[in-house]
Amino acid sequence: MDRRAFLAGGAVLLAGCGMGSDRAPAAPVPLTPACDDGDDPTPPQTEGPFYTPSSPQRNNLLSDGVAGTPLTLVGAVLTTACEPVAGALLDFWQADDSGEYDNEGYRLRGHQFAGGDGRFRLDTIVPGLYPGRTRHLHVKVQAPNGPVLTTQLYFPGEPANDQDGIYSPELLMGVTQGERGQDATFAFVVET
Ligand code: FE
Repeated sequence: MDRRAFLAGGAVLLAGCGMGSDRAPAAPVPLTPACDDGDDPTPPQTEGPFYTPSSPQRNNLLSDGVAGTPLTLVGAVLTTACEPVAGALLDFWQADDSGEYDNEGYRLRGHQFAGGDGRFRLDTIVPGLYPGRTRHLHVKVQAPNGPVLTTQLYFPGEPANDQDGIYSPELLMGVTQGERGQDATFAFVVET
């Protein structure tokens, strides 16, 4: 299965979750390039100054009553041969709606494990902007017993993308406007 088919399947699953049969089908989610055998791993990026170890295990970061535009990120963790990485660790952290990180507690921080099919889902908010950077999420991804990939994810169409020296178009999520916020997809390719 290639990455395109992988994510398309995930989008169908997501669209079918919690939506009444009287609703129109969700718009197709933009897809990342197809994953071929020998695909390059997702490029690493700087951790930045705001990582806090030992985040709580959760895939919903909205539980702290954070305000902002809801963001749902679904995707998968794949090997360089496009095989799903069952149980991959994903540790997300991000700024709040005002561009502030919580460096004392764990607001908008959480780790989770991908399912047996390599899929994951994160419920959060769209991160705010802060000086010097375009809009981004931080994440560490690790296959069981594999090396840690530290990287960042970006939003298409952000005016500051091209002024941000760290930004990479290889790390753009597919983003569409959903009913309650933004729906995003991304497939990580990691060393195992
Ligand atoms: Fe940051």
